[in-house]
Amino acid sequence: MTATGYLTEVAAEGLSEADALRLAELSDSPALMQAAAQLRDRGFNNGVSYSRKVFIPLTHLCRDVCHYCTFAKTPKKIEQAYLPVEQVLAQVKVAESMGCKEALFTLGEKPELRYRAAREALAQMGFSTTLEYLAHVAGRVLTETNVLPHINAGCMSDEEIAMLRPVSASMGIMLESASARLCEKGMPHYGSPDKDPELRLATIERAGRAAVPFTSGILIGIGETRLERVESLLALRALHRRYGHLQEVIVQNFRAKPNTKMATAPEPDLNELLWTIAVARLIFGSQMSIQAPPNLSPGVLPQLVAAGLNDWGGVSPLTPDFVNPEAPWPHLETLARETAAAGKHLHERLTIYPRYVQDYSRWLDPALHTKVLHYSDGQGLPKEDDWVAGQDFEAPAVDLALLASEASKLAPAVSADIQNILAAAMRAEALSEDNIIRLFTARGSDFAAVCRAANTLRQQRCGDRVSYVVTRNINYTNVCYFKCQFCAFSKGKLSENLRGRPYDLSGEEIARRAKEAWQRGASEVCMQGGIHPEYTGQTYLDIVATLRAATPDMHIHAFSPLEVWQGAETLGLDLETYLRQLKEAGLHTLPGTAAEVLDDEVRAVLCPDKINTEQWLAVMAAAHKVGLRSTATIMYGHVDNYRSWARHLLRVRTLQEKTGGFTEFVPLPFVPPEAPIYLKGRARRGPSFREAILMHAVARLVFNGLIDNIQASWVKMGEQGVEALLNAGVNDLGGTLMNETITRAAGAVHGQEAAPELMEGRIRRAGRQAFQRNTLYGSADPQQNLRSRSAAPLSEVVNTPAHKYERSKQISTEDVIATS
Ligand code: SF4
Repeated sequence: MTATGYLTEVAAEGLSEADALRLAELSDSPALMQAAAQLRDRGFNNGVSYSRKVFIPLTHLCRDVCHYCTFAKTPKKIEQAYLPVEQVLAQVKVAESMGCKEALFTLGEKPELRYRAAREALAQMGFSTTLEYLAHVAGRVLTETNVLPHINAGCMSDEEIAMLRPVSASMGIMLESASARLCEKGMPHYGSPDKDPELRLATIERAGRAAVPFTSGILIGIGETRLERVESLLALRALHRRYGHLQEVIVQNFRAKPNTKMATAPEPDLNELLWTIAVARLIFGSQMSIQAPPNLSPGVLPQLVAAGLNDWGGVSPLTPDFVNPEAPWPHLETLARETAAAGKHLHERLTIYPRYVQDYSRWLDPALHTKVLHYSDGQGLPKEDDWVAGQDFEAPAVDLALLASEASKLAPAVSADIQNILAAAMRAEALSEDNIIRLFTARGSDFAAVCRAANTLRQQRCGDRVSYVVTRNINYTNVCYFKCQFCAFSKGKLSENLRGRPYDLSGEEIARRAKEAWQRGASEVCMQGGIHPEYTGQTYLDIVATLRAATPDMHIHAFSPLEVWQGAETLGLDLETYLRQLKEAGLHTLPGTAAEVLDDEVRAVLCPDKINTEQWLAVMAAAHKVGLRSTATIMYGHVDNYRSWARHLLRVRTLQEKTGGFTEFVPLPFVPPEAPIYLKGRARRGPSFREAILMHAVARLVFNGLIDNIQASWVKMGEQGVEALLNAGVNDLGGTLMNETITRAAGAVHGQEAAPELMEGRIRRAGRQAFQRNTLYGSADPQQNLRSRSAAPLSEVVNTPAHKYERSKQISTEDVIATS
């Protein structure tokens, strides 16, 4: 093996200890850099992250005397020993208004042990230690703002970590070096008791035991050898392997500062920094975030990326780097440009990294759960926009520009793995779960490429025709004994305080609405409702009979798998027998709702008492078997993640391969405002705009050759969303609806009806041809099509109060005539 032969295929978990130690002898060769960059790409693809933060120097007093430090000051040199809490809060609130999500608390080590001024100031505020005061201030930040504290408090005991964990999303301490030699006389840590590597490693270990997402790193160029750097990194890795809590490793280069003992000491050159970044990457493998502060290396950022870095750390649009005040943060636009010059896409992260967000109940104190969920997307990164499904928020300009391919001309090239996955999807190959997850993580030019591929496929499979159907939603009751945590529609005992009164439509009202819909040009009624405790399978049969009597030629699209399951169960029938009865009664197709996310881990939180994944799929398989086709949906963006989305798509795909019964796939973004689980602080704020667009685009790619119709929900996506989706794989805008109540109950504002003129206007503005279809994607009946264009205004609906529940929903033909 050559000197660098062992670098050709480094395992994802990094080099062995023996090989890592050999790195100390290796120069900063291209082979080293290339191996590190490849390893980084395996873990982070084309992304380089940063955290938008505000820097809070709670106190500049410190009992240590590190020879390179200008942060620590003596009491004589400062106006106040500690920042008052009100000053901190004011600063954090300004930062919050500038989009900062992290408050980085930095402070000297235990100054009260050295300075009377510190002791007196603390006593005056009612605290005995700096860390007690820190816990108080961080707690106020947490309760009075949405910003997440990250605490760098130096060496800590178990008790101190336990005190700070409920008020911080993450903590950190720089190891700096594991070499005790640097504490000897004449060395930079001499006289600094807290720089004893054993004490610092003990703190890092305690944080691991306490399940604190943790940051550490090394400081290079302060007199340590390369071997000592490798040993320091290995010491950190050993702790991480035991506890899994290190979320990032910082490689910080020493900068000589005037008025310090090391003012004239040589700074490490660029090669030294690049070598160390590459070595850190090779030691920690593909999954660890390797970070270097961008303000300490101006002008060479692309080279740092090329050495295997994937994170720039905290960057503040507001406060300077108080540890290196001579080195200003780069402007975020500059950082994005420099990152793009390295072929990467800059994106934001939280102070707590995605894998810890995903497992937040283990890694975060309950006091932090809601805050972290509030900020997160399905990957555990910050939801990058304010867009909320069903609301009137502007779609983010950057995503719209990427969709229009304007920004992508300037953006870095599309990642190689994305190109390969897209090529496989275009060939209609089945994508793996990991491939689908990767598509959901696409950002920047990768995002644009996924949408472009979906758009190309849409063009190939469906041409330029965009369809819609004239339909009426009839939600026959909002009484429901299920407790789906996302549902603001149902009214059971527990939810009577939610919007609207409990109702249960009479057979006459159902018939009246269907007849009116027919007169207004509808070719379909879509019927779903709550699961009323008194409904049985016979109720659903009666509803179908009522509709048949009222509107014999209307297509009846009704009953989700939950209703079918419950109907069959209450009659003691197997699914196929019951579905056959529904079909004979006049049911034509089934809506694919109640699917939510077909992943039982998600369902256990979201809708624990509902049918499970297997049961939903069993109803659909049985329906397809008896000749009832159906749609499929996904309701996403709450407590789920990209893996659960991928599983959902694959489960629908697998069934479709067997039955071919799905006519369309309908992504339904979670509408949070009135959803109980969101109001309780236990769900995210719905998908980001990027995620909502991607759900449609990825579905188009996953279902290539199997499901041709990908539908956008105008109720949830709004005008801008629909427009964007028409460039991202969507070929259908769903129904005109006439009465939309379920999403409105959840807080949506996009209206109740989208009449044909409105639908067709949207479609024409996108340069496509409008097509009024029937449920099965044939042409709408010409007579109904004509009627739909001159429909009279809808008459007022009558929501029969629920206490007037009627045992039978079936009305006779004579009754129908009487209600005309
Ligand atoms: S989603 Fe459906 S089953 Fe669940 S509570 Fe709402 S109405 Fe009931």
